[in-house]
Amino acid sequence: MHIHIGRDMHGQPVKITASNQLTLTNILKEASRRKGIDMIGVIDCQSPAVQEEIYHLLVTERAVELADGGIRFENVTLLMGAEIEVYDEKCQGPLHVLCFLPTLQAMNTFTTWLTSRMKNVTLSSQRYYGTAIDLQNKVSELSGLFIPAHVFTPFKSVYGKGVKQSLQEVFDPHLIDGIELGLSSDTNMADQIKELHPYTYLTNSDSHSLQKIAREYQKIQMKEPSFKEFHRALHQMDGRKIVANYGMNPLLGKYFTTVCQKCMNPVPFQTKQCPTCQSKRIINGVYDRIKQLKSTNGKKENRPPYYYQVPLDYLPGLGAKTFEKLLAHFDTEMNVIHQISFEQLATIIPTKLATLIIEMRKGNLEIKAGGGGKYGRVVTRS
Ligand SMILES: [Zn+2]
Ligand SMILES: [Zn+2]
Repeated sequence: MHIHIGRDMHGQPVKITASNQLTLTNILKEASRRKGIDMIGVIDCQSPAVQEEIYHLLVTERAVELADGGIRFENVTLLMGAEIEVYDEKCQGPLHVLCFLPTLQAMNTFTTWLTSRMKNVTLSSQRYYGTAIDLQNKVSELSGLFIPAHVFTPFKSVYGKGVKQSLQEVFDPHLIDGIELGLSSDTNMADQIKELHPYTYLTNSDSHSLQKIAREYQKIQMKEPSFKEFHRALHQMDGRKIVANYGMNPLLGKYFTTVCQKCMNPVPFQTKQCPTCQSKRIINGVYDRIKQLKSTNGKKENRPPYYYQVPLDYLPGLGAKTFEKLLAHFDTEMNVIHQISFEQLATIIPTKLATLIIEMRKGNLEIKAGGGGKYGRVVTRS
């Protein structure tokens, strides 16, 4: 059986209504009913309010805790996680990590542990006062998973800010269960760093709104969507494994190229001052940072394929109304992106838009690279 997993997280939606508010229940409904994914990670489960909501779903029998870990709601399994900011004395700068735990009770124990090491456990991605190694040990003691988050982004990531050269400067490499690539990188880019070769790569949505859930995900071979099976897949045990990563083209990510933050012009990596506007606010791009870290030409054998996908709302001319129409006819966004034929699409939407979806599927769209916090975008040829 193939399992799709995405990750969703913190933040407030732009327009809040009861049905699009980023509550746990809404996330689970969206994932199960509209996105067609089988497993989703939510990374503010350390918050007592979120645990309360999970507990409520369990006692009202709308959800059930699985024997092998995780919470099943309708067709989706919730993996309970916490995104945490680490900045210990070995770090060059702050970095984010993801900690996933198998049971509500383990998450509850984790929250108690965090309470004395964090100013406010109710918020996500909060600074933790302690060492990365202590955090890794705690997660391991609770039979959890430890995954460095969006590892190349220029702010708050292990390679972006946390270390000079190697993740071993801050982490115990044996207590890492996977590496989250982030939107501005892909497998081939990351494989230029030799020390990443032993790890499984994850492509997760890092979504701050319901709509962006599953803009990245992976197809996993496992017996059922549960925490234990996911753990086995990350370590390629007993035939469990990631079969394919589905990610956005790195050019679409917010931090692909190095740019001046003031005038947004591309500049060379580690430029001190922008030659155009003299601003000193230079945001280094993921592409350049990986080039700097490059330690091997060799590709790693047996990596799963990495398929580029463009979320529907990135396509020019595809607005909210068309999106709803497509879902009404074809069920889930994944169906529209990967399965439905041109002929079928063209019965519902303009030919031009149907063509765009097919071209996207083939990887033929022209993309203007993102940088400095601004997403890349699909360029239309008129
Ligand atoms: Zn983060
Ligand atoms: Zn400038």
